[in-house]
Amino acid sequence: MKKVMNFINGAWQPSAAADYLEVVNPATAETLGHVPLSPASEVDAAAQAAQQAFETWRRVPAPNRIQPLFKLKALLEENFEEIARTVTLECGKTIGESRGEMRRAVENVEVACGIPTMMMGDFSEDIASGIDALMIRQPVGVCAIIAPFNFPGMIPFWFLPYAIATGNTVIVKPSEKVPLTMVKVFELLEQCDLPPGVVNLVNASRAASEAILDHPLIRAISFVGSTAVARQIYARASAHGKRVQAQGGAKNPIIILPDADMEMTTQITADSAFGCAGQRCLAASLAITVGEARHTYTEAIADAAVSRVVGFGLDEAVQMGPVISAPSRTRIESLVQQGAHEGATVVVDGRSPHISGYESGHFVRPTILSNVNPNSDIARTEIFGPVLSLMHVNTIDEAIQLVNSGQYGNMACLFTNSGAAARQFRSEVDAGNVGINIGVAAPMAFFPFSGWKESFFGTLHGQSHHAVEFFTQTKVVVERWPKTWSRQF
Ligand code: NAD
Repeated sequence: MKKVMNFINGAWQPSAAADYLEVVNPATAETLGHVPLSPASEVDAAAQAAQQAFETWRRVPAPNRIQPLFKLKALLEENFEEIARTVTLECGKTIGESRGEMRRAVENVEVACGIPTMMMGDFSEDIASGIDALMIRQPVGVCAIIAPFNFPGMIPFWFLPYAIATGNTVIVKPSEKVPLTMVKVFELLEQCDLPPGVVNLVNASRAASEAILDHPLIRAISFVGSTAVARQIYARASAHGKRVQAQGGAKNPIIILPDADMEMTTQITADSAFGCAGQRCLAASLAITVGEARHTYTEAIADAAVSRVVGFGLDEAVQMGPVISAPSRTRIESLVQQGAHEGATVVVDGRSPHISGYESGHFVRPTILSNVNPNSDIARTEIFGPVLSLMHVNTIDEAIQLVNSGQYGNMACLFTNSGAAARQFRSEVDAGNVGINIGVAAPMAFFPFSGWKESFFGTLHGQSHHAVEFFTQTKVVVERWPKTWSRQF
């Protein structure tokens, strides 16, 4: 049985951890390996190695620093299927979803190959007579990435390629539930001619995360996970003077107007709500129907939920896999029960399903609650499972008001045929990622992965120019070179 190792200072190292956790295939409940809960001393070893590497890596010219990324892109393509399979095995999503995730990872590598242009500075001649000013971007130092379980391959890539191409060094701490994907990625990074210490992998859970937040050599934290933890991470790391970007949880609303193309809307909102078993930070979680859309949409989405093919994600015909763990399944099912207690109708009940051949898996089938009271707990709690709650209002203004009353702001989408309604929604809705006739409004790698309100703590998001700004500090230089000092010429 595989014991997961750490990668520190250019070498694979077994952890001295006293405790290991099982890594489990959520579709079969089979053990895939054991992950160490690495102690703080191993975070320290990684931080020391990364700091030492930083001293020379920051001096490597940017055009040279991106060469390992070109190699990484080629290696990711060559090993694409194997990594996607690993994502499915440890995380449970379908193989198609895993391929989609890894495609996004590769796209971030591609965008970061443009760092020599993206981190260019500014220059102003003659800000005063004979005086020039310039602004240059320099790396910040050792950066740490703390990742969640639901996108084990993609999320570290929102940060890592930008961090190293801008001259920083990195420590990645994956979720202890899904450590195997990053092991595969680091096996490729090992072949990319990066100096030892530029990229480091430490496998652990909460204690090591806290050691990262407190470590004096670590200058920047990129976190993605639940809101409760994001808030703690932001507070604790900022108190130590670190820069922090902390992306949190979500409860994503979609609004359906009566003029929407109902067939398309149903198909893509079903993919949004039930894809990745609802464990996507951009999953549709609340569907708000306006006027006549109520009946047509409710019927159509119920049919889509019932007919979704659920099973082991490596089977190409399967449309939805299991949720991550038995406790997660129990939590989701009890939230559905709570919704029913609070007055919602369970239109489609996906609890305790029988998935033939996978009786030990952690499955919940697509579930739909209707007549959800906007003031109930179920309307506000992130379920993080394949559960869609339906609400109904009479106007788009009411719908937008309802959306904006939520505490999260990760994504909001509108389905309509009206340009005027779309324009109003785009302008008035309080969310960082917005979709118009789109079910999962995930920004491509050349846009920031935005997020507002309790879905994000910080200023600069992951991906693209935001990542470049986050991983660099600006230096402004004001220069005067009087001719009198160069008389010899
Ligand atoms: P989580 O918050 O439980 O864990 C995330 C990471 O933090 C893990 O690596 C974990 O080991 C570590 N951690 C957990 N508790 C900690 C603590 N108290 N102190 C320090 N580190 C700690 O999240 P999860 O269950 O792995 O992921 C699901 C959550 O992530 C959902 O809420 C989802 O919405 C969110 N998410 C958000 C985005 C986004 O872009 N906003 C993207 C993906 C997932």
